[in-house]
Amino acid sequence: MQAQTKIHSKGSVSATCTDCKEEFVITQDEFTLYEKVGILPSNQCFACRMKQILSFWVFGKFRKGKSDLSGESLITILPENTRYPIYTVKEWYSDKWEAVDYGQDYDSQKTFLEQLKNLQEKVPHPHQTGSNNTDCDYCDDVWNSKNCHLSRSMFDCEDLFYAYRNLRVKNSIDVTVCFTSDRCFDSFNCVNSYKLFYSRHSKDCIDSYFLFDCRNCSNCFMCWNLRGKSYCIENVQYSKEEYQNKLKSYNLDSYNSIQNLKNKFNEYLKKQAVHRENFNIKTYNSEGDYLLNVNDCHNCYTISNSEYSYNIIRGVNIKSSIDCVGCFDTELSGNCSVCVGSYSIKYSCWSPSRYSEYLDLCVECEYCFGCVGMKKKKYCILNKQYTKEEYEALKEQIITDMKGRSEYGKLLPWSMSAGPFNLSTGFLYFPDTKKEDILKLGGYWENTKESQVDGMPTSELPDSIDDVPDTIITQALICPETGWRFNIAQNELIFYKQNNIPLPRYHFDVRTKKTLKYLTVLKSYTYNCTYCHKNIMAYCPPEWGYGKIACEKCYQQNLN
Ligand SMILES: [Zn+2]
Ligand SMILES: [Zn+2]
Repeated sequence: MQAQTKIHSKGSVSATCTDCKEEFVITQDEFTLYEKVGILPSNQCFACRMKQILSFWVFGKFRKGKSDLSGESLITILPENTRYPIYTVKEWYSDKWEAVDYGQDYDSQKTFLEQLKNLQEKVPHPHQTGSNNTDCDYCDDVWNSKNCHLSRSMFDCEDLFYAYRNLRVKNSIDVTVCFTSDRCFDSFNCVNSYKLFYSRHSKDCIDSYFLFDCRNCSNCFMCWNLRGKSYCIENVQYSKEEYQNKLKSYNLDSYNSIQNLKNKFNEYLKKQAVHRENFNIKTYNSEGDYLLNVNDCHNCYTISNSEYSYNIIRGVNIKSSIDCVGCFDTELSGNCSVCVGSYSIKYSCWSPSRYSEYLDLCVECEYCFGCVGMKKKKYCILNKQYTKEEYEALKEQIITDMKGRSEYGKLLPWSMSAGPFNLSTGFLYFPDTKKEDILKLGGYWENTKESQVDGMPTSELPDSIDDVPDTIITQALICPETGWRFNIAQNELIFYKQNNIPLPRYHFDVRTKKTLKYLTVLKSYTYNCTYCHKNIMAYCPPEWGYGKIACEKCYQQNLN
């Protein structure tokens, strides 16, 4: 990087990204934090950096498989034909195997990361993450939950289908980033709501459809920016009887009607609804989106209760960390992917550990360097045990060798990611990424479109839920976008019939990804506040076509 840097007036430095060759800037404040954490400043621009870090966070596609230890059947989001063995999570945490048995000597003639990759390919991966669940087999990253199906990243949830990133949600389908809600469908970023359908960014709402930024509303239909209203349609007040009669005319049982209503809703969001410049709450001296209770956090997204951090995506209780994703209780760490409960961890993935570098899947380790799948170990390198003195000397030698090859100071290489980029969390944030670019970087890509699958095209499904026979649960359906097969479960069908919801036409992961486009924006754009006309930066890409965006002050004044 040194050769290409250019010093700016306030100590900011611009450099050329090693991946995409675009120019990017590292501020003096970032340099200070890099130094505090003890990692080298990145030579990738923010987007390229995040792509690589997020590529280690598998989103995947649920599939059946077998444990490479016991042959026991399992369900995992990890890809088929992995470079590494897979054990069930129970086996992985058992004493049936020892990661230290795979220990290797360091060979100074070879690059260190090549040796680490070699080691990684021998050490087993757990088939899923999560614990303390009942009947959540088709799940990943699910905790303290019951009866959830084909869902990911949840805590304290019950009876959910096709859910992603929820907390304390029950009896719902197709919900994404919802909190403390019950009986919701096709909704995202909704809080403390009951029977909320086709809605977004709403709070404390009941028995409503197509709500945007509503609070404390009940029995409302296709409304935006309302507070404490009942029986409104398209933001017009009706009597209870009028509302109920009008509601019947919308044919909510019909798939085609719902598509038309979604289009109409979208037009209101573009032309009538007032949008916030960001979804930050209780922030001080911070920039980013979906920040809650943070201080001195910059370029951060979806984090809460955190301070003094830069360039973070998703986390809670983060302190003094930089260039990390999936950080929960993370301090003084940098260039890490999903290192939950970590302190002073660098260039590592999936490792709740301390004072270590270049770890993958290491649990409660300290002072380890370049290890995979170790538990409660100290002073290990390439899974081999050393004394404290030996460890320190060898670590110094390896770092010197790595620096000599310009190998030190970067995250684990793309070639060590656990699965294809287009099935990683990275692809959710960067859906326009091209296959050839990832392959060039050494990453993986899977051809996901399937055409030779048996099943019924969803175009043949009855338009109305009323005409769907109970036998549909035995019928494999084919997603028109991906060719992926999916089914309607019995409890799912009951939910649709009870709530007058037509059957979905697309595979559930396709539905989740369509929703996520609204929750994964990592860039702000210039607008003028619709009220005071001052210049604002809003996390709304221009292609969304939002005509009314308010600065925080005007939003609070006019809509609170
Ligand atoms: Zn770049
Ligand atoms: Zn304003």
